Amino acid sequence: MIRKNFIKCLKGLRRIDEKILDLLYPPRCPICDKVTLPEDRICPECRKKIHIVSEPVCMRCGKPLSNQRKEYCFDCESRSYNFTQGKALWVYGKLEKASIYRFKYQNKREYAKIYASELTQRYGTWIRNRKIQAIIPIPLHKSRKKKRGYNQAEILAKEMGKILGIPVYANLLVRVRDTKPQKTLDEAERKNNLKRAFKMSENIVQLFNSENNLQMQSIAVYGLKLYFTATLFTGMNIVFCIFFTSTENVIPAHVLSLLKGLILIIPMAYLLSALWGITGVWLCYAVTECTVTILAIAFYIKKCTQI
Ligand SMILES: [Zn+2]
Ligand SMILES: [Zn+2]
Repeated sequence: MIRKNFIKCLKGLRRIDEKILDLLYPPRCPICDKVTLPEDRICPECRKKIHIVSEPVCMRCGKPLSNQRKEYCFDCESRSYNFTQGKALWVYGKLEKASIYRFKYQNKREYAKIYASELTQRYGTWIRNRKIQAIIPIPLHKSRKKKRGYNQAEILAKEMGKILGIPVYANLLVRVRDTKPQKTLDEAERKNNLKRAFKMSENIVQLFNSENNLQMQSIAVYGLKLYFTATLFTGMNIVFCIFFTSTENVIPAHVLSLLKGLILIIPMAYLLSALWGITGVWLCYAVTECTVTILAIAFYIKKCTQI
């Protein structure tokens, strides 16, 4: 009861706090930058002027399409991208461009709240349906963050996380190279510009270590490196399984799946942990996948020699 009242009291205080902040720094419309009512977010005049992205849109990048029969825009039909799907809220017109510019370069951090509110209103259900477990904003290089004072992607992600109840991990990804601004480059230069620009920080283990146990942290940092050596073999095994299934060689496909998921991994865990302790446990997934890859290659060679 006391705890409940205390939480209620804290929430009340936070609301008062927000009201005082609204009085001191009244919310501004991100389009015209004039003071607006908190409930309006974007003032009614500007709302009429902005161009909301509406269907039909490109299934890959989210850009509006002029031809209703098309699924992808010209860019996405002719190029490959390293993302699955993008969503856009506004068409990047003159007003929208000026708003984003102020948000990025003129310290208009307060726009993040309004952008987040608009984005979640439009795409909240879409995001929730995907059962997203974490939001990871694209980081700035530390020198650029120091110069600008903030990372606009991070504050937007935090506002969205607050509304959607999804944790935001701003330290998981680190920009290790101070890349040139993407807007100053052409398509080919943009791709090269981002090569080896990011690295996953050791904070990835925070996902599994909510109590911030330092011992667990150091074990996991070491162990995850061993664990993820399996990814090369996992990828090859998936390709082999698809190959055998699609060429109607059901038995090898089943054998490989069963070995991977059940038959091999459990005895391997016992055996390797007995041999090498915790290192063996971390390695058992990689060794299992590697063994299955060797077997898959043998099946493949056998099939080829039969043809
Ligand atoms: Zn306005
Ligand atoms: Zn597209």
